[in-house]
Amino acid sequence: MDLCNLSVIRELMGEAGITFRKDYGQNFLINRMIPEEIADNCTDNSESMILEIGPGIGCLTKELALRYKKVVAVEIDRGLIPILSKTLGEFDNVTVINADIMKTDIVKLVEEYSDGMPVSVCANLPYYITTPILMYLLESGVKFNSITVMVQNEVAARLTAKAGSADYGAITAVLGYYGEARRLFKVSAGCFTPAPKVDSAVVRIDLYTKKRYEPRDERFFRNLIKAAFEMRRKTLVNAITAKYPTIDKEKLRSSIISIGHTENVRGERLSTEDFVKLSDALTQN
Ligand code: SAM
Repeated sequence: MDLCNLSVIRELMGEAGITFRKDYGQNFLINRMIPEEIADNCTDNSESMILEIGPGIGCLTKELALRYKKVVAVEIDRGLIPILSKTLGEFDNVTVINADIMKTDIVKLVEEYSDGMPVSVCANLPYYITTPILMYLLESGVKFNSITVMVQNEVAARLTAKAGSADYGAITAVLGYYGEARRLFKVSAGCFTPAPKVDSAVVRIDLYTKKRYEPRDERFFRNLIKAAFEMRRKTLVNAITAKYPTIDKEKLRSSIISIGHTENVRGERLSTEDFVKLSDALTQN
């Protein structure tokens, strides 16, 4: 069964008595090469367990099941579950869970299903909740090998931006703490049904196996990034002191200079490493 064929999708959904749910960000792939390409490139280890978020009717799930040891797919839409039992019935290495990923205890899920295998994430993410899902995965504490996601083109640009560029934002700086993101390929809006308004791209994040940065106060480090980008147009000094009025401006200025920037720099010029250094300089006794 070609799960990327429009008539097949319509027939399966018709039989189940359901239609596309916009509130769940349902844009299903209708170009078979895309799920194949994503599955081929999401990790280098075929002995992995893959956590998929939002399998839809299972087009990507099937390609993952053919390539990797185990697939656990979490789908929020109850209406899709009977379809998934049908489309994935032939695979004994796939488990479908009907749940909201944002309410799922990922540590527990991985413990329960991974059997010590390396774990990677692969998903064509619902666009309405892309960044919260990514942050939820990164902050879960699970040591994923990689996270490969289809996201809107502009989000892909943000995730893979270099410090100082227009696309660089808080999510880029935070992401740099966990791993390295690279854009794999672009996917045009016409490859989905219903077609979204904008094109998409697939991004793969390879997580550091060993922590690259160890800020003295991780919470402060994160808040510093947040503060720097909340008021993007302000200089870093003004953005940070607006959020932390107790920080001494002079100390802040000299700390910024000590990490190699000028005192009037804006936050968007600081790399993840710079934010770690600045956070450490400001939390030094
Ligand atoms: N994987 C399919 C494909 O590539 O054609 C469907 C991708 S579609 C963009 C996003 C999928 O995520 C939908 O099946 C939707 O129901 C599901 N979804 C949306 N929000 C979710 C959530 N919070 N937790 C789990 N699944 C979710």
